[in-house]
Amino acid sequence: MGNGLPKLAETDRCNGCQACVSACPAGALTLAPDAEGFAHPKVDEGKCLGCGKCVRTCPVLSPPVGQPAKNVWSAVSKRRDEVMRSSSGAIFQLLATQVLSEGGVVFGARFDGDFNVVLDACEAPADLAAFQGSKYVQASANGAYGRAEAFLKAGRKVLFSGTPCQIAALRKLLGHNDWNGRLVTVGVICHGAPSPLIWQEFRREREKVAGASVTSANFRDKCLSWRDFSMSMTFANGKTYSCIHKHDPYIRGFLQHLFLRPSCHQCQFRDPNWTQDITLADFWMVKKMLPQMFEPKGGVSLVFTHSELGEALLESVSGEMERMVLPLAPAMASNPASQVSAAVSPYRRAFWEDHGSFPLLQLLRWYNYRRWWKTVVNHFPEWRRRHVCRQIPDSRPKGKH
Ligand SMILES: Cc1cc2nc3c(=O)[nH]c(=O)nc-3n(C[C@H](O)[C@H](O)[C@H](O)COP(=O)(O)OP(=O)(O)OC[C@H]3O[C@@H](n4cnc5c(N)ncnc54)[C@H](O)[C@@H]3O)c2cc1C
Ligand code: SF4
Ligand code: SF4
Ligand code: SF4
Repeated sequence: MGNGLPKLAETDRCNGCQACVSACPAGALTLAPDAEGFAHPKVDEGKCLGCGKCVRTCPVLSPPVGQPAKNVWSAVSKRRDEVMRSSSGAIFQLLATQVLSEGGVVFGARFDGDFNVVLDACEAPADLAAFQGSKYVQASANGAYGRAEAFLKAGRKVLFSGTPCQIAALRKLLGHNDWNGRLVTVGVICHGAPSPLIWQEFRREREKVAGASVTSANFRDKCLSWRDFSMSMTFANGKTYSCIHKHDPYIRGFLQHLFLRPSCHQCQFRDPNWTQDITLADFWMVKKMLPQMFEPKGGVSLVFTHSELGEALLESVSGEMERMVLPLAPAMASNPASQVSAAVSPYRRAFWEDHGSFPLLQLLRWYNYRRWWKTVVNHFPEWRRRHVCRQIPDSRPKGKH
């Protein structure tokens, strides 16, 4: 690389994993949000030594060796309360509790005081609840890789969980080293990481409606059921917000891929390039593929194991779950996000062009509404379509900030 400035992953390929920032020996890399709120590394020319370590560590530029899945299970914890607190079958909680009981440390994603999502460590079972449940916002690595390494060097066992790109970042930083079986990694099947900027705007707009600051948020509330999950929030004045995912503007926008990180549309960290020891996912097809395990309220997990270490950890908690082995190919096919990246929404560009010109809730409603109309109208015969189209308002949301 010579002594020039490092050429890191291009903007649309950089997944924000922060491996480069952690690798830099000179502290020359800092993170700055782009116009969509996604963090990107910036080089301080004055500090940069031109050593190229950041480029060599970047998992996008030189991906770590993958660990394809070996086995897959349908699984659910026997602890009903934990299942209801988790996004699917509470398998993360079982694995994490086991590692903590062995004197280990668990890393996962939680909210900080301002409801940003960050990776953090926990050493006590009481603190695990903060990591439970999917937070549909890109989590900042927040120095977690260095902290995990420090725990490993101190002889502790570490369970490191996060998105597959974050696990790949850890692998690149620590090398192909499982620290004599003390480092076990758990990734989630991940169809994409939404913009932290949109999440914070959504939170603030909900706070405006409630008239108080938010005290808790749950992207996967099972109050109705696992499949019909809701976005729920509580506020300091005792008010609550709860909306089924198909009508909640934020979750709809997320599922329509309006504000995913651009790199997620070309994600390199799917099967067979996963690098974690265990992958967790929702087993959405359980009713069809394994009706005897279908549980509508709490839900069921798909659990892939990729290494002997992963299999041993899963085995150690097998008494605390119901599980059944599945054939690998159909299980993989039942969850497309395991292999295929999310398509770019045809409205993504227009959404970001309009962003900032209208209050977010109004903007999200407009894009959700427009898409809905298009879908419905396209099913009508031509004569009816022309008639209905004439009646759809063509204006953008009214009012500016
Ligand atoms: C952004 C995102 C997208 C996902 N997309 C899919 C999908 O398309 N299909 C699918 O089947 N499953 C997806 N999942 C995984 C799924 O929602 C569950 O997390 C998974 O089934 C584990 O469930 P559980 O009940 O065992 O544990 P839970 O308690 O529900 O999950 C906790 C785990 O999720 C991690 N986590 C939560 N939020 C984040 C975050 N923002 N960044 C990094 N790690 C996080 C925690 O660190 C912990 O490891 C996604 C998860 C996330 C976070
Ligand atoms: S080239 Fe070396 S000093 Fe410069 S930013 Fe990269 S890691 Fe840091
Ligand atoms: S290491 Fe991660 S954050 Fe840094 S350039 Fe590569 S993908 Fe982006
Ligand atoms: S889709 Fe891929 S790049 Fe995007 S957050 Fe998930 S693992 Fe990372």
